[in-house]
Amino acid sequence: MAEEEASSPVERRGTGGWEKVLATEGLPEPGAEWHSSLWRQAAEQFERAADVLELPASTRARLLEPRRILTVTLPVVMDSGEVRVFTGYRAQHSLAIGPGKGGVRFAPGVSMGECAALSLWMTLKCALVDLPFGGAKGGVRCDPNRLSAGERERLMRRYAAEIHEIIGPDRDIPAPDMATGEREMGWFMDTYSQQVGHSVRAIVTGKPLSLGGTQGRAEATGLGVVEVAEHAWREGGSDLAGARVVVQGLGKVGLVAAREFARRGALVTAVGDVSGSAHNPAGIDIAALEAWLSEHGFLRGFPGAEPLPERDSLLTLPCEILIPAALEAQITEANAADVRAELLVEGANGPTTPAGERILAERGIRVVPDILANSGGVIVSYFEWVQDQQRYSWSAEQIRERLCGQLAEAWAEISAASREHGVDLRVAAQICALRRLAAAVEARGVYP
Ligand code: NAD
Repeated sequence: MAEEEASSPVERRGTGGWEKVLATEGLPEPGAEWHSSLWRQAAEQFERAADVLELPASTRARLLEPRRILTVTLPVVMDSGEVRVFTGYRAQHSLAIGPGKGGVRFAPGVSMGECAALSLWMTLKCALVDLPFGGAKGGVRCDPNRLSAGERERLMRRYAAEIHEIIGPDRDIPAPDMATGEREMGWFMDTYSQQVGHSVRAIVTGKPLSLGGTQGRAEATGLGVVEVAEHAWREGGSDLAGARVVVQGLGKVGLVAAREFARRGALVTAVGDVSGSAHNPAGIDIAALEAWLSEHGFLRGFPGAEPLPERDSLLTLPCEILIPAALEAQITEANAADVRAELLVEGANGPTTPAGERILAERGIRVVPDILANSGGVIVSYFEWVQDQQRYSWSAEQIRERLCGQLAEAWAEISAASREHGVDLRVAAQICALRRLAAAVEARGVYP
C-alpha cells in the first residue's frame, strides 16, 4: 500500500507550509494584541478577586477576555491641507448585562491594550454599582494639545462614523474621557444622527444640555470621588474639615474634586496638571485656580502656589488624602515607598500599579479603587441615558440625591465584603462586581 493512502486525511492534506510561515513570522498568541502592561494590571486585579470567589476557569475566561475590539483608520484633513491618518479603537469588553458603556479618549498613549484594560474596568464598574450596562472603551491615538478645534471636530466625526456599525443606544453608548467633553459628544451625536436620518439623543452621554444632556453630568465624577473619599475617611473616625488633600490632574475629574473638597472644608494643599505642579501648605484658593485655568488653560505660572521642582513631586508630599485624577500608572514601585498620604482615592483609572499597591498595603495606606471612586460619572451617564429614552428630565437635586444614594449603597456593600473576606477594598469591590457578572453570564448560558 502506498504511504500516502496509509496516512489520515489530515496528514494527507498537509499543512500547506503554514508551520514554517507561522514560525518565521513569530506570530503572537491569540489575545497577545491587547495583553499590554495595563491589561496585565487589570487582569492581575481580576484574578485576585476571582481566586477569593473560587470561580471556575471557564467562567473566568468568559468574564476576563474582551468580547470584541474594533480598530479603525481615520484619515483627517488637517488645517494645513495635508491628510493625516490616525488610528482609533473601540473595545467592547462585555455585553452580558446590557449595552456597552465607556468613554472615548484622545491621548498619545491610546492603544488596543489600553482600551481593553479600560473596558474591563468599565464592565466591573457598571456591575459594581448595579447599572444595566456592560463595559466598553475607545479612543484615538493623537496629541490633543496639538489639534485645532476644526481638526478635533473632523477627527471625532470620522471616528464616530467608523465605529457606527457596532454602537447604538441599545448596543454601546460612548461618553467623554481624557481630552473629550460636551463639545465632542455633541459632534458625535450629530454624526450618528445624520447617518441614521433622525436625532438619537441616547447614542452618547455627557452631551450638552441642549441636546439631551443631563443636569449634574459635568460634576458627577469629581463629586463622586469626594463623596466616596468622605465615606472612607469617616470610617477612620475623622471628618474632612482641615484634612490636607493633594490632587493630580485638573480636568473634568480633578478640578471638580478639588472644588468639592474645598467646599467641604478640606485644605487642597497641592495640585498638578500636564504643565507642572504647585504647592501651598495654607490651602489653594480654588476659585482663583479655576479663574487662572479658564484664562490660561494650564497650571504653569499660577501665582497662588509655589511651583514644585518636578511634575510628579506632588505625589509624595505629606497629606491626608491623595487623589490621582490624571492618568494611569502614577503610583508605582518607584515612588510608593515615598507616598505620605493616609488614604489614596483613585480618581483616574488604573493610577496605582499592582507593585505600587503592594508597597502601599505594607505601609498601611488604604486605597479606594477606581471602579468605585470614579463611578459617579457612569452613574449619572446612566441617568442621562434613562432620561433620553424616557424623553423626560430630572432636576439637579434629584440627580445629586440619587447619585449619592447609589454611592453610599456601593460603599456599604464593599465595606461589608472587605470585612467578610478579610481583603482590601479593591479586591472587595471586584468581588461585588464579579458576583453579579458571574450570575448573569451563567444565567445566559453559552450560545448556541
Ligand atoms: P481631562 O482630559 O479632563 O483631564 C486630564 C488632566 O490630567 C488634565 O488636567 C491634564 O493636564 C492632566 N495630565 C495629563 N497628563 C498628565 C501628567 N503626565 N501628569 C500630571 N497631569 C497630567 O480628563 P478627565 O476626564 O478628568 O480624566 C482623568 C482620569 O479620570 C482618566 O483616567 C479618566 O479615564 C478618568 N475618568 C474620567 C471620567 C469622566 O467622567 N471624565 C470618569 C471616570 C474616570
